[in-house]
Amino acid sequence: MTRKALYPGSFDPVTNGHVDILAQALDLADSVAVAIGVHPAKAPLFDFAEREAMIREAVAGIGADQGRVSVIAFKGLVVTAARDEGATILIRGLRDGTDLDYEMQMAGMNGIMAPAIRTVFLPASPAVRHITATLVRQIAAMGGDVSAFVPAGVAARLAARTGR
Ligand code: ADP
Repeated sequence: MTRKALYPGSFDPVTNGHVDILAQALDLADSVAVAIGVHPAKAPLFDFAEREAMIREAVAGIGADQGRVSVIAFKGLVVTAARDEGATILIRGLRDGTDLDYEMQMAGMNGIMAPAIRTVFLPASPAVRHITATLVRQIAAMGGDVSAFVPAGVAARLAARTGR
């Protein structure tokens, strides 16, 4: 039996924290679909194609097999996206107690909507647990150096985007 996992998020842009969780997920599942949530009302910094390209570069950066990772866009419910992909594992990264409280609620409700899909919480590695994509975008917009928080290709795109 092959196990497929879905790892949903905004990934705007992918950070070293996301990459850490993706690497852990690849140790658990045969393949992982990185699912980029597309919100009609929210304008992202990077469009889907750019976010996908940065995730692909990050997969290469950790030496993972590109064939075991797919990148998809989804609208609506995560459990619907998981079902559509044939994924039975839903990956969520946990940074702290705030993440846990919220994630427990979502896991509980998702588990009732889709009992065949198991949420798996993965703890952030200590070196990356402080990283959030929101702060990365803010620091980059203010001219800060984000190279400690994101893969090199992402730092370069952020620098180009913010014109610094
Ligand atoms: P962010 O909160 O950084 O904007 P996303 O909405 O893209 O991130 O998050 C997608 C998933 O990645 C969530 O499960 C989130 O908990 C996890 N995640 C984000 N940043 C980290 C991190 N630094 N360490 C571990 N997991 C993380």
